[in-house]
Amino acid sequence: MASLPPHLTGWQILDEPLAIHKRGDSRARREASAAMAARVKFPEQALDQRPGRWSGGLAQRLAVGRALMLQPELLVLDEPLSALDPTLAGHLLELLLELKAAGTALLFVSHDLPAVARLCDQMLVLYGGEPMCQGPAAALLRELRHPYLRGLWEAVPHLDAPHAPRRWGVEAVRPEQEGGCRLYPRCPSATEACRIAPPEGAAMRCHHPF
Ligand code: SF4
Repeated sequence: MASLPPHLTGWQILDEPLAIHKRGDSRARREASAAMAARVKFPEQALDQRPGRWSGGLAQRLAVGRALMLQPELLVLDEPLSALDPTLAGHLLELLLELKAAGTALLFVSHDLPAVARLCDQMLVLYGGEPMCQGPAAALLRELRHPYLRGLWEAVPHLDAPHAPRRWGVEAVRPEQEGGCRLYPRCPSATEACRIAPPEGAAMRCHHPF
């Protein structure tokens, strides 16, 4: 919501990138804006309104639509599904898959691992800004070798395993150790080796991967 100019209507927000880049006359830009609103399932009548009238989900769809107006080669998406209900999130995910199939590169920042599994080819898992593991997303999520990635996956609600154990808590269970692994205070797999020295490596930073 904060990224949308509060004084502009939906029409003006979608038009702005095209106008700045001098793409088409006002009529062509209007048609392109209407087509984009339909594409991201933003109701055309709400384009006459300003962002203050919209729900978080509507604002998020318009923000994605605005980002697509110039048909970018790279789209950077930071938690794009987080404010959407499951139906709209599913629709946006389909749209992102379409864009990817059409050749748009996506940098998708998310805690939504099922969405990552559907959308991403390569994956980098960060904790506190530091890389924990990286590689092909399908293999990382199938094997769940890194304890932190496994903990994130276990936190996802699964219909077929309602009582799956959750081994990671938000609270630290042991004090932080300077020079040790960043995850030492919270990791259920931590040992003395994790307390003493940080794990190294490019693809897998852990002394005891599964
Ligand atoms: S190095 Fe140790 S504390 Fe760090 S993630 Fe691996 S097992 Fe856990």
